[in-house]
Amino acid sequence: MSAHRAQTLPPGLYAETAVPAIGLPPLETELRTSVVVVGGGITGLSSALHLAERGIDVVLLEANEIGFGASGRNGGHVNPGLKPDPDEVEHDFGELGRRMVPFSYAAPEALFRLVERHQIRCEARQAGTLRAATTAKTLVGLQNLAAQHAARGITATLLDASASVAATGTNRYLGILRDPSGGSVNPLGYARGLAQAAMAAGARVHVGSPAVKLSRPQASGWRVETPSGAVTADRLVIGTNGYTDDLWPSLKRSVVPLWSGITATAPLPDAILRDVMPGGGVLYELGSITVYYRVDLAGRLLMGGRSAQHAVTGPDGFRFLQSYACKLWPALAGVAWTHGWNGQLGMTPDHYPHLHEPEPDVLLALGYNGRGVAMATAMGGLIARRIGGEPVETLDMPITDIKPMPFHGFWPLAVNGRIAWGRLLDRLAR
Ligand SMILES: Cc1cc2nc3c(=O)[nH]c(=O)nc-3n(C[C@H](O)[C@H](O)[C@H](O)COP(=O)(O)OP(=O)(O)OC[C@H]3O[C@@H](n4cnc5c(N)ncnc54)[C@H](O)[C@@H]3O)c2cc1C
Repeated sequence: MSAHRAQTLPPGLYAETAVPAIGLPPLETELRTSVVVVGGGITGLSSALHLAERGIDVVLLEANEIGFGASGRNGGHVNPGLKPDPDEVEHDFGELGRRMVPFSYAAPEALFRLVERHQIRCEARQAGTLRAATTAKTLVGLQNLAAQHAARGITATLLDASASVAATGTNRYLGILRDPSGGSVNPLGYARGLAQAAMAAGARVHVGSPAVKLSRPQASGWRVETPSGAVTADRLVIGTNGYTDDLWPSLKRSVVPLWSGITATAPLPDAILRDVMPGGGVLYELGSITVYYRVDLAGRLLMGGRSAQHAVTGPDGFRFLQSYACKLWPALAGVAWTHGWNGQLGMTPDHYPHLHEPEPDVLLALGYNGRGVAMATAMGGLIARRIGGEPVETLDMPITDIKPMPFHGFWPLAVNGRIAWGRLLDRLAR
């Protein structure tokens, strides 16, 4: 078997600020376990943790380092809910939809309690998620969403334009819906903490260990080969999201691995900080090209959004986000932007996360549409419930067929300029 060169995360803010990685070995032997998990992002790590907490033996294989994918690079926003509004979810899924809505809205609270329970050091702060309207059209959508929340007893406050200025320090927004259950984490710290918690609960975790071949040694169960070892298991879980390769047939073609980017300032002086998100929390703008931002514990502004569709490192690749930030808060003119990085998230044409069970002993979960910090954590819990024997009928998310997009190969060509993602994904899927 040939040696594998594991990649490390590109230099970035989180590599400097997260708790250091614990030294983990690659797999260099043959192991036997109950469940083998492929992917060391939030999906895989949360699955491993929840399985181990149930006393189920689990081995996790990560090709590179823990949090190498979107989980160690994201905005750190812990957001409640799914991308489609509650009304739409219930319309699309009926009775199941009425479980999906509370499940997805409870995901941030569950994450913050999990962080507490396992003492994960990741700068966790439950200071709220702000959804912001920049146009008359998105304001109507926001008001509608507020009414949907109120009808279901979901706590959220609708801020008018002047209250939005008080919350954010910019007059850009016509209205904001503030949900106190959301908040933020240092995502790389969170991923590393999940790995540590999973191991403390009994999971075995190997980095630098890509799953390169799957086979069935017997009628049931799996053998997963890495370049220098193998794991035999009764069940297989794959959580590779925007970094999905060809391990499972056609899975890669079921998500678009869209790049998103973030740029960060140096810690801002108090005089500026007073006017940048004085109300705290994390904010994302409604619209087809999402801008999202927060201020971290050290007072840096982390501004996220559109990115080139290839790897970019350093602040210079994100000038458009920086000039947008200066439009929001003119006092930022002249501040130092010290970091910039990007990563790939998994978008799905129906905007829902996908959980597949293509065979009775396989679960695949991916496609969080930019909301995986809370939702992938929740999905890990759901996967453990399913493997623990829970029937499909009582799960809080649908198990669906893998739907490869016929025109998937064209996605990179289509991503130039401003596009309506929903429309583009719909076209790739038909
Ligand atoms: C720039 C950016 C900003 C974002 N901001 C937010 C945000 O603020 N809030 C939010 O909720 N979501 C956000 N997201 C999305 C969120 O990060 C993802 O939904 C979430 O991290 C997905 O986790 P995952 O474990 O499913 O996948 P990933 O974290 O992508 O992990 C997949 C892992 O699988 C590994 N892998 C792939 N193939 C193999 C193999 N064959 N064998 C072994 N390992 C393999 C990869 O190395 C990788 O580590 C953002 C994403 C990006 C890129």
